Formats: sequence, structure tokens, C-alpha cells
Amino acid sequence: MKKSILLLIPLGILPLLLGVLIGFVAVRLDTQGLVDATFVIPLLLLFLLASTGVGYLVYKYLNYYPAIKLDIELTNKNKMDNNDLIDFYIINFGTEQIDNHIKKINEWKNSKIDAYKGNEKKVAKFQGRCLKNQQKAFKFIGYRVQTRYRQVNYVKHPYKVEKISNQVAASDQFILNRIAFLKAHDYDVTFNQYTKTDQRKAMTKKLRDKIKERDNYTCQECGKHMPDEVGLQIDHIVPIAKGGKSTPTNLRVLCSKCNGRKGGK
Ligand SMILES: [Zn+2]
Repeated sequence: MKKSILLLIPLGILPLLLGVLIGFVAVRLDTQGLVDATFVIPLLLLFLLASTGVGYLVYKYLNYYPAIKLDIELTNKNKMDNNDLIDFYIINFGTEQIDNHIKKINEWKNSKIDAYKGNEKKVAKFQGRCLKNQQKAFKFIGYRVQTRYRQVNYVKHPYKVEKISNQVAASDQFILNRIAFLKAHDYDVTFNQYTKTDQRKAMTKKLRDKIKERDNYTCQECGKHMPDEVGLQIDHIVPIAKGGKSTPTNLRVLCSKCNGRKGGK
């Protein structure tokens, strides 16, 4: 259980204890024939409700952090894990919404810190809470649209439902780091492709075409121009066997002659 949820217990218990105390006193007075104690049960329920409500509001207040939900349609897309989901969003939809939300978070933080001005203790406490709650700054929700059928009078009627296939929450710092990573690799390789997948498999046709175009179909060693692509090869500058990645910065065009010579070294 999260620490913040545990906080609810003392917060809820205090009003509840007060209710029990009042109930206890009322019953004592009832036995002495002073009051009718039947009101005690609804009163206790009311206190219970109020204590839960107060606890919930305090919990919400202490754990507030500006959050955004980003829906991503994955219909007809391959199955992806949470890393892929985040990268898919950044690569396909850009960073505009993310940037705006991070701006909003920073404005919110600054206004709070301004309000606490001069009170170092409160600022530190606020920053500690932010550190704890920033994990929910972004929520990526991948969903697929499925067609289902409803049968009315022996006729099938199609209707669509959205089914969530995966969702992941992340902090603003995590997303900024991920954007920096993708940008550094020209939005051409995902985190999973970079870290997990076989680097040979990461050499997609799209990536090959990109390198050919970038290097103008020209051998980067001897300058041979190969517009017909005969003998044109894509070379890993740092070989895969030595930890080289299939990323634009580690790839170049070579002619078969130069590539063969390189392999012989
Ligand atoms: Zn060459």
C-alpha cells in the first residue's frame, strides 16, 4: 500500500472517534432517561461518511499534480509494450501536446513556490510531494477499435467499441529524457529497438533508404557514386559485434570494394 493512502487512516479515524464518543455519551444519557439515543446510528453513519470524504479530499489535495491523458489509436498496429507505446506517440504525434503540458506543470510549480515564498520548509515539502506525484504527469492510453454485432430481428447490426490495450504513466522528466533520446537518434530508432532488439533486425528498409539518400548514393571512403545502387552497401561504422547500433550516426554508404577491405582489416 502507498504511504499516502495510509494517511487516510488517521484522518478518517479522528472524526470517527469523535462520532463514537458522542454516541457513547448519548447512550449513557439514554440509560439515565435523559435523551433518546436512537439518533446515534444515523449520526455515526454521517460521521463515517464525512470522515471518508474529508480523508479523500485531503488525499487528493496532497497528491495533486497536473496530469494529462493521451489517447493513442492502435487499431491494426502490432502489439506493443509500454516503451513502444510512448515512443510511438512521440514519433507519430510530435511533442506539441507534451510541451504544452510540461509548460503547464512548470507554471503550476512556480506559482506554488511563489505562494510559499520565504518559507523554505514549505517549499521543500512541496518539492518532495512533487517528486512523489510526478509519476502521473503523463498517461498514455493505447486503444483498439473493435467491431461487434448486435442482433435485432434476425439482422446483424455492427457497432464499434474502443478497447484499451495498454496504458502507462510516466513523469515529465521521463518523457523529456525519452524525447531527447529519440531526437538524438533522429526519431529513427525506438528505445526498444536501440536496447533490446537484434541490431540487424533494426536495419529497416526505411532506415537503409534514409542513409542512401543522406550519403547521396556515394561511397564514404572512395567517393564512388552509385545511383543505380549496384555494389552499394550500408556499413556499420562501429560493427554490431563491437556494440555498434543501427542508428543513422553509426551508418554510412560504402561500395562493396571498400566494405570488403574494411572487413578484411
Ligand atoms: Zn568505395
